[in-house]
Amino acid sequence: MDKMTLEPHYDDDCIFCKILKGDIPSYTVYEDNIVKAFLDISQGTPGHTLVIPKTHVKDIFAYDADLAAAVFSRIPKIARAVQASDPAITGMNILNNNGKVAYQSVFHSHIHLVPRYTDHDDFKMIFKDNSDNYSPADYAAIQDKIKVSLED
Ligand code: AMP
Ligand code: ZN
Repeated sequence: MDKMTLEPHYDDDCIFCKILKGDIPSYTVYEDNIVKAFLDISQGTPGHTLVIPKTHVKDIFAYDADLAAAVFSRIPKIARAVQASDPAITGMNILNNNGKVAYQSVFHSHIHLVPRYTDHDDFKMIFKDNSDNYSPADYAAIQDKIKVSLED
């Protein structure tokens, strides 16, 4: 993959680029030269925050290692600030949706920080356990297909 620049690069049709340019307002909680963090308008739970790179990148598949290191290294600091903002926060789901099928609706990569309060707050995830349907050979075949696809 070509080396990406960490300098801001905007897509004119992108709503999050419009937020970065100041054309659309946001409730910004943190920003520096690499990322901006602002409240998700949906507030899935109170404090739901999005962290976006300041350069337009569509999804996780489009990151190079330098941009990923720069963006993801900032997540713990922002997550701790969200956590510290309310003593009722007892956990946090950190999510990154890639592709329509994976519930991505804005195609400027973003990381959701979803504070969790109780078992009965407004957020749910379901991880189905399909392990009964997999033999050791099935796991090994999947393992091999992924391993041979790794970039250098
Ligand atoms: P995803 O479905 O993972 O692509 O998440 C996109 C998120 O962006 C959704 O949770 C929306 O609520 C949020 N969103 C869309 N437009 C705005 C906006 N103008 N300000 C803040 N959040 C937004
Ligand atoms: Zn964008």
